[in-house]
Amino acid sequence: MSIRLNSSKKSPRLVYIKTFGCQMNNYDSEIMAGVLTAHGHKMTDNPSEADIILLNTCSIRDKAEQKVYSQVGRYRPYKDKNQNLIIGVGGCVGQLVGNDILKKAPLIDLVFGTSNIDKLPQFLDYINYSGERISRIDKAEEWTDKDIPISRNTTKSGWVSIMRGCNNFCAYCVVPYARGRERSRAHQDILKEIEELVRSGHSEVTLLGQNVNSYGKGKEDEISFPQLLRLANQIEGIERIRFVTSHPKDFSPELVEAMKLEKICETIHLPLQSGSDHILNRMNRGYTATQYRSKVDMARREIAGLTITTDIIVGFPGETEEDFAKTRDMVKEIGYDSMFLFKYSVRPGTAAADFDQQIDEKTKQKRLEEILNIQNQITLEKNRAYEGKVVEVMVEGPSQDKKDIMIGKTRGNKVVLFPSADGIREGDLIKIKIDKGRLYGLDGEVA
Ligand code: SF4
Repeated sequence: MSIRLNSSKKSPRLVYIKTFGCQMNNYDSEIMAGVLTAHGHKMTDNPSEADIILLNTCSIRDKAEQKVYSQVGRYRPYKDKNQNLIIGVGGCVGQLVGNDILKKAPLIDLVFGTSNIDKLPQFLDYINYSGERISRIDKAEEWTDKDIPISRNTTKSGWVSIMRGCNNFCAYCVVPYARGRERSRAHQDILKEIEELVRSGHSEVTLLGQNVNSYGKGKEDEISFPQLLRLANQIEGIERIRFVTSHPKDFSPELVEAMKLEKICETIHLPLQSGSDHILNRMNRGYTATQYRSKVDMARREIAGLTITTDIIVGFPGETEEDFAKTRDMVKEIGYDSMFLFKYSVRPGTAAADFDQQIDEKTKQKRLEEILNIQNQITLEKNRAYEGKVVEVMVEGPSQDKKDIMIGKTRGNKVVLFPSADGIREGDLIKIKIDKGRLYGLDGEVA
C-alpha cells in the first residue's frame, strides 16, 4: 500500500470531469461537480492542472471499457508529474465492470457506481489519506436525486432528471443493469428544480429519463408524465420544455394532448430501432411496426410542425434482408428529421449477446450506409422545406468557428446559424428568416 502525504494536499483541490455519452451522464456530471464543490473543491477545464480527474463513462457504444483505458492512458504524463493525482472512473462502465477496472488499469485509483455519486468526497478523502485504490459499487437502485447539489454547466438551457433506470430489458441494452430498475422522482422535487433553473437564469428545460412516458407508473402517490408536463408548463419564466426519451409502447394520446401546451416543444425522439416485427420481437421492444406507425400518425395529425427523430439499429442478430428492407421502407415512409444510426454490437450481459445468427460486419456496414444515405436525403429535403419561412429561435451563443455567427435552436430542435447583431444575447427568443436548409441545419438572418 502506497501512502500519500497529507502535506501535499492542496486546498481547494482542482477537479476535472470528462463526460461520455448521453444527456443523463452530462446531468450526473453536473451533480458530481455540485457535490464536490459543496465539499470545497474547485472545477477546472484543464486536466493537466487537476488534482482529481473523473471519467463519467458510457456503455452504450462499442468497446466502451477499452475506450476508458485508452482515455486514462492519455493522463499518464500528468500522473508521472503528480504522484498525488487521483484518477476515478464512474458512470455505466464503473457500475458494470467494477473492481476489475482496478486490476486492469494501475493508473486508476477509484471506481464508483451510478448510485455512489453523493459519496465521492468521502471516497476521495479516503484515497488521499490512505493511499489505497478503491472500488465502491452499490446497487444502481440505491440512487435518488433528492437534495443533491448541482453545479450546472448550462446558463439558459438545463436538464432535470425525472426518473432513473428502466424496466424494459430490450435485448441489446445495458441500461437496466447499469442504471437499475425504473424509479420516478417526486413531482414536487422536479418542479422545485425547474423553478431553481429559472432563478439561475434558464428559460429552457429538458426533462430526462430512460423512458419518460412511464413516469409515475407503479407509484400510487405519483402523477403521470402528461400531468407533470401540465404542471411544468405553468412555471413562470420557463419558455420551452423538452423531454427525452419516449418509448413508443408508452406514447399515449394523453401525452399528445399535453404536447399542445404552449411551452412544450413540438418535437419527439421516438426510437423505432427496426421496422420488422420479427426483429422488434427479438429485441423485446413491446410494439409492432403497425402500432408505431399509428402513434406517429396520431402525433402528426394533432401537433402542427412536429419534428420526429429516432434511433435505428442495423444488423441485429437474425436480421434478414427482408427484415432490413422493412426498416429501410419504414425510414422512407415516416420521414424522420434526423436519426441516430447504429450497427448492432454485442453488450456483455445482455440477452442478445447470446443470440445466434449474429450478422457479419460487412453486411452491417452495407446496411448502415444504405439507411444513412436515405436519411441524409430526407433530412436535406426537410431542412430545405424551411427556406423562406420565419422560425422562432432560442439563441445559444456564438459559433465556435466564427465569432460573428450565432447559433440557436428552433422549437423543433433544428440548429440555426445566423449573423450576430447588436443586442442579441444568449437565451433570447428571436425570429429568424431561413435562407438555406442544409444537411446539418438551417442558415438565416434576423427577421
Ligand atoms: S427502453 Fe430499452 S433501450 Fe431504452 S433504456 Fe430501457 S432497456 Fe434500454
